[in-house]
Amino acid sequence: MNDLYSRHRQVLPDWLALYYDEPIEITHGEGRHVWDSAGNKYLDFFGGILTTMTAHALPEVTKAVAEQAGRIVHSSTLYLNRPMVELAERIAQVSGIPDARVFFTTSGTEANDTALLLATAHRRSNTVLAMRNSYHGRSFSTVGITGNRSWSPTSLSPLQTLYVHGGVRTRGPFAELDDRAFIDACVADLKDVLGHIRPPAALIAEPVQGVGGFTSPPDGLYAAFREVLEEHGILWIADEVQTGWGRTGEHFWGWQAHARSGPPDLVTFAKGIGNGASIGGVIARAEIMNCLDANSISTFGGTQLTMAAGLANLNYLLEHDLQGNARRVGGLLIERLRAVAAQLPGVREVRGRGLMLGVELVRPGTDEADPRAASAVLEAAREGGLLIGKGGGHNTSALRIAPPLSLTVAEAEEGAAILERALRTTY
Ligand code: PMP
Repeated sequence: MNDLYSRHRQVLPDWLALYYDEPIEITHGEGRHVWDSAGNKYLDFFGGILTTMTAHALPEVTKAVAEQAGRIVHSSTLYLNRPMVELAERIAQVSGIPDARVFFTTSGTEANDTALLLATAHRRSNTVLAMRNSYHGRSFSTVGITGNRSWSPTSLSPLQTLYVHGGVRTRGPFAELDDRAFIDACVADLKDVLGHIRPPAALIAEPVQGVGGFTSPPDGLYAAFREVLEEHGILWIADEVQTGWGRTGEHFWGWQAHARSGPPDLVTFAKGIGNGASIGGVIARAEIMNCLDANSISTFGGTQLTMAAGLANLNYLLEHDLQGNARRVGGLLIERLRAVAAQLPGVREVRGRGLMLGVELVRPGTDEADPRAASAVLEAAREGGLLIGKGGGHNTSALRIAPPLSLTVAEAEEGAAILERALRTTY
């Protein structure tokens, strides 16, 4: 065990589980590459949804943060904050939500906490609908809407939550259905659930389930849900923590794949928008955002420091059309990985959109999820110089690929080749 890891184990909680048998310390990065403390260089196929949406050490963001840190960081709840107003204006512009208001937090968990606070206050109900296999954070209330129990630190919850079908269709009773029949079955399930309870405040859903293993429902599912929700006055919250800002390639927001009936009532975002700076937030129509009696959640969201990072990062993302890049490079990557998968019986499926791709592993010749193979591939990829993630339903048998959105074609090919070798070594 290396020295830093033993110190980590002495002083940090046991449940702070790290990747790899010998966890690595990442010391610096540039573009789509990072280096560890032993001097090893890695292509980073996972940092894109953890922290670094555009590129590591992006000079535009570094400069903006350094300048702001050298000038002022002060309260955003007591004094005017120019970078916060400017970033809120930019986000409102690209949100697709009419009369949008933006509230900043420091994480995705807090963003979802705020969305729940707003929806439950607006609707005067603490019943919420969430999707099976969902992940929305680990605070007291977000654990209560996380269907993926293996990622929940506690089973207690302040909310009454009912889980509905639709987030995953790879296994189970709906697996054989075509898109239309799947949507119909999910809508029937939603109606059935609603038939037995007092009207809930909201339905919260990730357009593509992230921690759940990058599974997408057919386009239009949430539009079909929306029609039912509207009949009951139930709000729709889209959790765009992983899917926002063009990651899915075809769309700037994940919800746009379901847009027939217009934008969600609330959108939550976080992670990459600060390119490492702690930004989360909620976008909602003024009527919903303004329903609280007093200031919300925390005094620390939207500091000038994080807002400066967010502004520089969002400008870069839009000016360089990184959404288009995600579509083009992600399209090539998925084709390449599918060609590899076709030769390997342990790869059940390569799925996803844009630069958000999942590779699901099974025990060869069966349909049984294979979390041990996922861990083995993760290790082998690291040895080959590639960082990837894992996720999935009640077992982590899916590899997750989510590089910074500026990934080049050459880097996509290099990463795919390393992953192919890691898969072949494992199977
Ligand atoms: N929602 C989704 C969809 C997420 O993937 C995550 C984090 N993995 C969160 C919310 C929570 O975000 P954070 O870790 O920033 O609190």
